[in-house]
Amino acid sequence: MNPQMGRMGAEDPPGGSPHRATRHAVTLVPGDGVGPEICDATVRVLEATGVEFDWDVQQAGDRAIKEFGTPLPPHVLDSIRKNRVALKGPITTPVGSGFRSVNVALRQELDLYALVRPVRAYKGARNLRDDLDFVIIRENTEDIYAGIEFEQGTPDAKHLIEEISGLLKKRIRPDSGLSIKPISITGSERIVQFAFDYARNNKRRKVTAVHKANIMKHTDGLFLAVARQVAEKNKDIEFEDRIVDNMCMQLVLRPREYDILCCPNLYGDIISDLGAGMIGGLGLAPGANIGSNGAVFEATHGSAPKYAGQNRVNPMAVMLSGVMMLRHLEEHDAAHALETAIADVIALGKSVTYDLKEKRDDPTAVGTSQVADAVVAQLRSIGPIQPAPGV
Ligand code: NAD
Repeated sequence: MNPQMGRMGAEDPPGGSPHRATRHAVTLVPGDGVGPEICDATVRVLEATGVEFDWDVQQAGDRAIKEFGTPLPPHVLDSIRKNRVALKGPITTPVGSGFRSVNVALRQELDLYALVRPVRAYKGARNLRDDLDFVIIRENTEDIYAGIEFEQGTPDAKHLIEEISGLLKKRIRPDSGLSIKPISITGSERIVQFAFDYARNNKRRKVTAVHKANIMKHTDGLFLAVARQVAEKNKDIEFEDRIVDNMCMQLVLRPREYDILCCPNLYGDIISDLGAGMIGGLGLAPGANIGSNGAVFEATHGSAPKYAGQNRVNPMAVMLSGVMMLRHLEEHDAAHALETAIADVIALGKSVTYDLKEKRDDPTAVGTSQVADAVVAQLRSIGPIQPAPGV
């Protein structure tokens, strides 16, 4: 796929340009489980592009609980606020410990309201079909993820059940737990506008709003009504809507009819994993959390604790999140080169992890760090980084 431009010296960055005007200060949160090893692999390939970084390494999750008594210490948020860009490994949500999800908290604290998850089929991956190319834009701050919950049997839950029963004349079983789903005009307006802006900036033609407005009239119904209003002001881009269950079926049967899917939080979460499955699994599904206070780049997958420290899992989802970060930093040429190198390694099929193999126990699968070696070698074989097409 790439022109062979001759081998470069071991110390030469394949970027070939020794005079970079910009070093980028980036907060690096290695995270839990497999996080540190896939972040290590990603830092290696990012640096191999020749782009220069000042990494501000910050611990969140298990190590932060041990060291600071909280999984998300304020100084981690301060670092991201200062640098405005972070690369993050997955963080475990301890079950039953009382700690809420650090990942959700971080998005809410920094108001990273848009989660962008491209679904692109790379040749040689275990794709449902080879022409997949759509983008999920998930609202990141409200919906059922707002964290407003009332545990079954507590006085607050009882009180709320009585209030609601009085207001609506509807019976809620007294032994129910409750989760509140807020969806606002403000939150809906900005995510739908973000989707249209993203479409325009990335030469995409259509935005599809995803909802269940037929059942949840005052939340999803509001989201849809606002989406239609925003669409009226963005007539250069096509707009349509789909009910979420139908959307899932359509994506499997007719994915080429879809381009940008703009989803409230929960549907965006579920459709992201559907999308990941369509392109060969979570190991190839990147993501970017974006807001007016900064951007945090992370894979769709979690910390896969059973594989921690085994040099086994696929680092490409974080590497591809790194490609998105390079584009965000306007390092378009390096982004294109790195994405091409990753695509080449997938297409060659030799240096890939178990998840990209037909059988999970394929003995020819390589480990996390060997994937990084292969991507770096592929970058080197490209030679000096060329201008990205269309930039
Ligand atoms: P997971 O994504 O960690 O793992 C599920 C399975 O997917 C793994 O067992 C593995 O088979 C496969 N997998 C995941 N990543 C892979 C990779 N890079 N390469 C190859 N295979 C891969 O999901 P889980 O087990 O439900 O969650 C584990 C923890 O991660 C939980 O505590 C959860 O809350 C957390 N989590 C964090 C994030 C985040 O940090 N953004 C996202 C999702 C889950």
